[in-house]
Parts: sequence; structure tokens; C-alpha cells
Amino acid sequence: MPKLATLDFKRQIERDGVPAAAPGIDMDLVRDCIHCGLCLPKCPTFRALHHEGDSPRGRMWQIKEASLGLVAFDDPRFQAHIYQCFNCRACETACPSGVQFGAVMEMARAMTPPQNRRDRMVRRVLLNGLLPHPRRLRIAGWLYRATRAARLPALLRRSGAWKIMPLGKFAAFPPVGDTSPRQAALPALTPAHGTRRARVGLLTGCIQDEMFHGTNRRTARALAQNGYDVVVPSARVCCGALASHAGEAKTAERLAAQTMDAFSGQELDAVIVNAAGCGSNMKEYQLQLRGDPQRQEAG
Ligand code: SF4
Ligand code: SF4
Repeated sequence: MPKLATLDFKRQIERDGVPAAAPGIDMDLVRDCIHCGLCLPKCPTFRALHHEGDSPRGRMWQIKEASLGLVAFDDPRFQAHIYQCFNCRACETACPSGVQFGAVMEMARAMTPPQNRRDRMVRRVLLNGLLPHPRRLRIAGWLYRATRAARLPALLRRSGAWKIMPLGKFAAFPPVGDTSPRQAALPALTPAHGTRRARVGLLTGCIQDEMFHGTNRRTARALAQNGYDVVVPSARVCCGALASHAGEAKTAERLAAQTMDAFSGQELDAVIVNAAGCGSNMKEYQLQLRGDPQRQEAG
């Protein structure tokens, strides 16, 4: 851990020189920000909170300072500004300098400890304990459909019991998904109808395949009817997007490697993903797998 600075950064830098950047932070990406502020009007947290620290420019500045040891990664104010970011990336589309804000934020979160007990629990239970484990996911998916069929979420909301339950918000306000019973897994290959145009892989995903299995099934059918061979890996994989967004870098890297392996050797022309978040995460495997040059190249 680098020695922390006094607030007189200028004098410290004059005295000690520019500190070495924290490992795990790509300073070239951080330095892409020219602090012009054109992204500020696009940022929902800046528009709501009117605080520079909750703007993309402010966050880039703080990440730079933390990376150089001028602010501690576990400083509660730094943590608050970093975790208040939705990682929605609206700032990226406004940025004239091509800052990869999402990638920088994920690197910063990987260095920033969870803010409180609830965050630690979400990481342990959901991101590490559930999503990477297909069998547990199947049980969770069954529970999700059963509780919705029994109208349990409405009961929890009416009684207010969700407020004192662990993960009560998830139980009382479940995301909307398929309510019909889940059908059998998609076949390893759905062959193209008529003339074959290409061979594609379909990422059925983790939560996605429990909650939107019908969408995956219809996607495979539509692709096949339009001349695509659709390959679904036998190993059910999570792309690692949620782990990556939350700063669980090791879990994200492991899941990225598993996803790469699941599709490798299939001679695919493309990988199709229904969930936009999973798709954009997979496009960044090159960054996430920088510790694994072989898979990084394949990514
Ligand atoms: S990712 Fe979204 S919330 Fe975060 S700084 Fe950019 S625009 Fe704001
Ligand atoms: S992120 Fe881009 S738009 Fe925002 S301040 Fe930096 S360079 Fe300007």
C-alpha cells in the first residue's frame, strides 16, 4: 500500500516525484480523460446530485488520485462516489476523447473494498455463491417461478416483511421474467433450415436462462429458420458481467475464461447474446483477460 499523501499533493509530488500507479489500474486508460466535462450533462448521478465527485470527470480524477496513492481506495468518500456510479456508460457516448469509462470503473472497483455489510453479502451470496453455479441457479430459478406463482412478492410488499429480511428487496421486487415452467435445455445444435448462411454460438447465460428461457428458445428458432446453425455449449456459463461491474475481478476473470473455453473449437462465425449487458461485457474480455495472454488473444 503506497504511503498516503498530505492534502498538499503538489508539494508531495515536488518532494517525492510522481508516485507509481497502483497495480491493476491501466493508467493509459485513466489518462485518456482530458477533463473537458462534456460528459457531465449525460450522467444521471451528476444530474441528480449536482456534485462534481459524482460526475464522470470527478470520478476519473478521483480514480487517478487513488491510483497514485494520493487518496486511499478505502476512504469512505471515495467508496461512496465510486459505488454511486450506475456504470451505465452514458458518459462514454458523450466523450470526445474515447474514454473507456466502464473499463476504468471496473478496475477501480476491483481495488475498492465493499462499502458495507450488505455489499459484502451481495458479493458473497449472489456473485460468488450463486451465479457461477448452474445447479444452484436451477434451484433459485425454480424458487423464483414458484414464489411468483404463489404471489409471495406481493405478500412481502404488503406486510413490509421484506425490509427486515436478508436480500428482502430481491424477494419483494423480483425482476419480471418468464412465469411459465422452464422447458428442457436447448440442444447442443439447432441446425439451419434450408441453405446454411453461418454457424453461430448462443450464450444462454446464467440468470438469463432461468428467467428468460423462452426468449433464448425463440432466438435459437428464429436464427435456425433464417439459415444459421445454432450451437449452445453443454457447459452452462455465466459471462461474468455482474461480477466485473461489482469489482469481483478474480471471479469475473474466471467466468470469462470459462465462457471463452465453452465456445472455443466450435468454428463459429459469431456469438449471439440476448442480454445487452452480457454482450457488452464479452466485448471487453481482452481487458479482463490481460493476465491470460492466450485467451486474451482469442478474445
Ligand atoms: S457510467 Fe453512468 S453513472 Fe457512471 S459516471 Fe458515467 S454516466 Fe455517470
Ligand atoms: S470522460 Fe471524456 S467527456 Fe468526460 S471529462 Fe473526461 S474526456 Fe471529457
